[in-house]
Amino acid sequence: NYRIGMASNYLRHGESIANFSSGAGKISRINAVTLGESPASEENDLVLPSDEFCRQALIPNPQKYLEMYKRSVEDPAGFWSDIASEFYWKQKWGQPVFSENFDVRNGPIDIQWFKGGVTNICYNCVDRNVESGNADKIAIYWEGNEPGFQDSLTYSQLLQRVCQLANYLKDVGVKKGDAVIIYLPMLMELPIAMLACARIGAVHSVVFAGFSADSLAQRIMDCKPKVVITCNAVKRGSKTIQLKDIVDTALAESSKNSISIDLCLTYENQCAMKRGDTKWQDGRDVWWQDVVPKYPTSCMVEWVDAEDPLFLLYTSGSTGKPKGVLHTTGGYMVYTATTFKYAFDYKPSDVYWCTADCGWITGHSYVTYGPMLNGATVVVYEGAPNYPHPGRCWDIVDKFNVTIFYTAPTLVRSLMRDGDQYVTRYSRKSLRVLGSVGEPINPSAWRWFFNVVGDSRCPISDTWWQTETGGFMITPLPGAWPQKPGSATFPFFGVQPVIVDDKGIEIDGACSGYLCVKNSWPGAFRTLYGDHERYETTYFKPFPGYYFSGDGCTRDKDGYYWLTGRVDDVINVSGHRIGTAEVESALVSHPQCAEAAVVGFEHEVKGQGIYAFVTLVEGVPYSEELRKSLILTVREQIGAFAAPDKIHWAPGLPKTRSGKIMRRILRKIAARQLDELGDTSTLAEPNVVDQLIALADC
Ligand code: ATP
Ligand code: MG
Repeated sequence: NYRIGMASNYLRHGESIANFSSGAGKISRINAVTLGESPASEENDLVLPSDEFCRQALIPNPQKYLEMYKRSVEDPAGFWSDIASEFYWKQKWGQPVFSENFDVRNGPIDIQWFKGGVTNICYNCVDRNVESGNADKIAIYWEGNEPGFQDSLTYSQLLQRVCQLANYLKDVGVKKGDAVIIYLPMLMELPIAMLACARIGAVHSVVFAGFSADSLAQRIMDCKPKVVITCNAVKRGSKTIQLKDIVDTALAESSKNSISIDLCLTYENQCAMKRGDTKWQDGRDVWWQDVVPKYPTSCMVEWVDAEDPLFLLYTSGSTGKPKGVLHTTGGYMVYTATTFKYAFDYKPSDVYWCTADCGWITGHSYVTYGPMLNGATVVVYEGAPNYPHPGRCWDIVDKFNVTIFYTAPTLVRSLMRDGDQYVTRYSRKSLRVLGSVGEPINPSAWRWFFNVVGDSRCPISDTWWQTETGGFMITPLPGAWPQKPGSATFPFFGVQPVIVDDKGIEIDGACSGYLCVKNSWPGAFRTLYGDHERYETTYFKPFPGYYFSGDGCTRDKDGYYWLTGRVDDVINVSGHRIGTAEVESALVSHPQCAEAAVVGFEHEVKGQGIYAFVTLVEGVPYSEELRKSLILTVREQIGAFAAPDKIHWAPGLPKTRSGKIMRRILRKIAARQLDELGDTSTLAEPNVVDQLIALADC
């Protein structure tokens, strides 16, 4: 089994440290794991993979990783060509395998991979599996919001469904390059619709079906789709949400701005609402069930160039107006497939469940494309993770024998708050790998996830990446090396992360700064839709020569990377630069604190002060004593300079619909600039803001 312990435990592990360091060769970014004398900080806390896990792992030891990593950066063309050759290409790519201008000083940013190669990602996700003996393997297990509602599709059934929809879309005039907006909840029809678009070369833009009519209208007006695909209603938890009404409002809004949509294909989601109760506009609205099943179950593939667009997706909007990120076909295909395989140590017998919605990049790369390119069996869950009770996730894990479970820190923290008993009453013995994405995972949440959910048996892949990167950038490879709770560990193959200072100068060794990448990787986004200038300004101009992630990062003495949050969130207290993530982790390690969000506010003496919003564990009342004890925890763990100046009790925190804390709004509340809260349309529950304001001076 794994052992959680301090660095000295590493000595007791069979694999010698010498092995780890000897492979490091010229790759200076990855240092040998050195032994920390003092176990005082998180960075000395190592969690070792069991020998049993290592023996079966795709990357069983550090040397194997280093060997592959070295080749991937020294010979990226060769490394990625070999992997790309495992997929079906109607015509092989030309030379060079990739070309990039990564430096704004040398002209427009331009990234191309496998140019001239002709392929189709839907073919590679579905047909290729059907043809290679996986026709009867389950592609999707679907679980409805209400316990007891379930369905499944084999790869050959999935192919038939995809083809019917693809044929319909072609018949109504959707052509290669046309945009299609998909506004659907987590029904099987969502990945089906994505794949059907890809099959005919149409560019899908999935809009998370929790967005408001305004947000949807904004996106419709931006990408001007030929068709909008939706459903009449959905049940999430105990609420019924009438999606079609939201679409109607959005379509009315966009037609006022002279973007009119002629076709709204609507799936009748009978579990939530009967068609008779749905508002209808004849001529524009068509029931999916009335038309799609009549079409043939096979459909010719539209072969596309590797650099033809695959999809357009708006970022989650944590920091402002969402950006329309454009991904192309070939590089994205190769990258998502490869990252999925290695970061989750994927084996054909796995049953994989990612709790993300297809409305986010995680649902694109790691519900649909990455897993299906590997022929995986994927669980798609429609409902809320704690409905009808906080044990629902583990119920689903046991039901489908899920082996890989991938989720977000926000869910981990909320389940932790509900108590262990909801977890331990389920077996969970099928689990072998866990994953986390979306925000830095606090070490205490990491440990709970590891010890309680994974019974101290399953490695956690804390995957750092972005909508823009298409796939994982810095991620553990389970079994490859010891983990540190809260660190995303090392870069994925082909990725060369660098940490730069304010002036854009690369810093070596153990350091903190701005996280950048210095070379292109196949899954990189190629532009912001319709705004290449904003693409360059946001990502390539801040530090010329590099892609700038917007995130802050620390590299410790062992070479492990620790994400410290967005750089706009770094607080400067009396000259100390403090990452919000660090203070939040200290607060969350307090047994009575469930979640924390930290922002800076103007402070007369210190320049900036630390303002902490805290959510408490179920049933714990807020008190003066608790306030003091929270502050003490931070003083003890980080130091007096990081002690919060203000603790603000928060029954709930404002989050994006993908579950991320929206610090932009918290900063305004902290500064009491209540009339400047800005766009709150991407918030999951706008009323928590009023609640917070009401508690501001408690
Ligand atoms: P916007 O760009 O519109 O503000 P967003 O950045 O939240 O929205 P995403 O692309 O979904 O949109 O999220 C990427 C960001 O999420 C990263 O830049 C990082 O801040 C955070 N993130 C994702 N995974 C991790 C992780 N494993 N550890 C730390 N941070 C993470
Ligand atoms: Mg972002």
